Amino acid sequence: MTAYDPDNIFAKILRGEIPSTRVYEDDDTLAFMDIMPRADGHLLVIPKTPCRNLLDASPAQLAAVMATTQKLSHAVVNAFGADGVTIQQFNEAAGGQEVFHLHFHVLPRHADVSLRA
Ligand code: 5GP
Repeated sequence: MTAYDPDNIFAKILRGEIPSTRVYEDDDTLAFMDIMPRADGHLLVIPKTPCRNLLDASPAQLAAVMATTQKLSHAVVNAFGADGVTIQQFNEAAGGQEVFHLHFHVLPRHADVSLRA
């Protein structure tokens, strides 16, 4: 697999080199709003340590990111009055990944409302 690129966009967001709307942070993870939201409240959860994607993740990185993803899923249901939550995650270009730092999409869902393109 290709090596982790420390100049990917999310690494720059982690270092504060480019702006983002941060919504949650702990010792191991950061969450911020997606710049092109496909649903109201669409956010991204990432580990703070270098990790290209799921295929590159340690058990500890996965556990931390999943714990934050679950926590924020509860939060968006409450904050947006959502009926459900879709979690998306892509790996490598062939798998639909565009930014090569592990991330989980949290997409609040409402009954009968489709995700935007
Ligand atoms: P994926 O790698 O999961 O296919 O897509 C990357 C996601 O990151 C997309 O939903 C895209 O809108 C989001 N994204 C790309 N660049 C930025 C950025 O500079 N800031 C933020 N907040 N999100 C970004």
